[in-house]
Amino acid sequence: MSTPSDFKCGYVALVGRPNAGKSTLVNAWVGQKVAIVSPKPQTTRTNQLGVLTTDNWQVVFVDAPGLLRARHALDRVLVASAQQALMEADVVLWVADVSRLPAAEDERLAELVRSRLGGRKLLMVLNKADHLRAARVLPNTDAYRALAPDAEWMLVSALRGDNLERVLARIVELLPVGPQLFPEDQVTDKHLRVLAGELVREAALYSLHEEVPHGLAVVVEEYDETDPALVRIEAMVYVDNDRHKGIVIGQGGSMLKVIGSRARKEIEVLVERQVFLGLRVKVRDGWRSDEREVARMGYGDARELRSGEEEF
Ligand code: GDP
Ligand code: MG
Repeated sequence: MSTPSDFKCGYVALVGRPNAGKSTLVNAWVGQKVAIVSPKPQTTRTNQLGVLTTDNWQVVFVDAPGLLRARHALDRVLVASAQQALMEADVVLWVADVSRLPAAEDERLAELVRSRLGGRKLLMVLNKADHLRAARVLPNTDAYRALAPDAEWMLVSALRGDNLERVLARIVELLPVGPQLFPEDQVTDKHLRVLAGELVREAALYSLHEEVPHGLAVVVEEYDETDPALVRIEAMVYVDNDRHKGIVIGQGGSMLKVIGSRARKEIEVLVERQVFLGLRVKVRDGWRSDEREVARMGYGDARELRSGEEEF
């Protein structure tokens, strides 16, 4: 990779409450699904990188998991990754759902960002403007702006694409000069096999009721692309207990079929080939509370676990 001397490149961390639209924003900017999206909290479990490159600059978006109170070992990994993203970024984007007023979590986030920001720029991205009634525009934007009075702010809609170009242009202005970090054709640091597993989890999040998804993990056990016309994937869906296993499988396998068919279609778009997707379900009792199991499911590692203790 040869880089012109005035090339700009940097990391942009997206922080904000679960459901604010961080993953939707990154996908919109990158132009491809690099992070899964759903109305359920805890959809994003690891720092997902989304990379956008032009001749003159490269932005590396870090879509961090939501900032949660650490309860399980899994939560601690999530909190540690979010914190790390915040520390290492060149520009910090605070993404908020402006259709709702800020809550206690936003106050905590404001404090955290204030204490970690140093000399870096904070952009407040007030998302879901499409969902904001005219009468709420002033009170809601004022309430968020009060949390970070020095930040620049913009109203956007990730869903409709409103103002996304403007925010991107501002991000690029703020990027430091530096060499390109990723090849221009790479849009994420995740291997296709990891993304395939995430798409299975996304399909399950969409199809299942509230309680099951939190205890759900997907591990791709086989990813075979030797056949140029077909990718063959075998994935294991791990659940917390036998009852959840029954729910995920459904009557005569009906739920697993719905999940599998939705995931297969998404993976086919991603890999641009036909996909065979084999899904199995296994109970791994209490895996979220076991640090070694959390690492085995692909979330952080045992060392990261200790650095994220109960910070928020
Ligand atoms: P994250 O948890 O911050 O990553 O949020 P997601 O990107 O997963 O989005 C959470 C939910 O909000 C999803 O159902 C999205 O479709 C929805 N969403 C995201 N952006 C917008 C937006 O601009 N307008 C509206 N109305 N919904 C949005
Ligand atoms: Mg997300």
